[in-house]
Amino acid sequence: MLVDYHTHNELCKHADGALEEYVRHAVRIGLKEIGLADHSPMPNDWDIEVRMYEEQFWSLYKPAVLELREKYRGQIDIKFAVEGDFFPGTEEWVREFNAKNEFDYVIGSVHYLGEWGFDNPLYVGKFDHAEIDQVYLSYYDHIKRSAACGLFDIVGHCDLVKKFGHRPTKDIEEVLRETLKVVKNAGMAVEINTSGLRKPVKEVYPSETILRICSELDIPLTLGSDAHTPGDVGRDFEVAKGLVERYGKGRISLYTRRQRSEVSIA
Ligand SMILES: [Zn+2]
Ligand SMILES: [Zn+2]
Repeated sequence: MLVDYHTHNELCKHADGALEEYVRHAVRIGLKEIGLADHSPMPNDWDIEVRMYEEQFWSLYKPAVLELREKYRGQIDIKFAVEGDFFPGTEEWVREFNAKNEFDYVIGSVHYLGEWGFDNPLYVGKFDHAEIDQVYLSYYDHIKRSAACGLFDIVGHCDLVKKFGHRPTKDIEEVLRETLKVVKNAGMAVEINTSGLRKPVKEVYPSETILRICSELDIPLTLGSDAHTPGDVGRDFEVAKGLVERYGKGRISLYTRRQRSEVSIA
């Protein structure tokens, strides 16, 4: 069976389509579950240009997700989730926010290194002036801390830093291994996120090097399209399936109320 655990909707201001359109597309292509995992609100309207207001979470997002879950019962299982951000200094706020909700899972993503939203096309120019190896080290240090803080269930797009095609000049396999050991100890899964195929790098997140280490460390996998438009739900999952076969023994993780289980994709 197949599921898509990483989808957005128009509330985040940089995606198209209402929640229900994502659900309908998932039903149309025969997914067993869809995870509605929009960008979580953050304290003090932090980074509000690319996410919903907290007030919208309570008045719109949460009630809509729970209502859709009932409406589509029997057709598809709908998971109530968010994509959270790891941003140092916000951990306590996020902990309290997560505790106030009955999330099925919370994706933990790193989109910021300091004030730099490095995956935002508006700020890609900063790569030209940055020391790329340092950027990679800083990125994986953030991933490590996002796992160690215990706030999240799934590592989102674990090598997002490659999005625009910038590559480290040195071999970073040991850095990756140390990072993934922390992920393993935190009991987290790593998502196979097909949106990288639609970005300049034209590769799935994460790389096969990372997936090979995940397999060696027996880290479970999840599946997500990171759809920001309804038609992208389940996009390129035939590629993702091949990776799950190769690096995850053909099994993916499912979550209910933040409890993990496993199922075969066959
Ligand atoms: Zn987004
Ligand atoms: Zn993301």
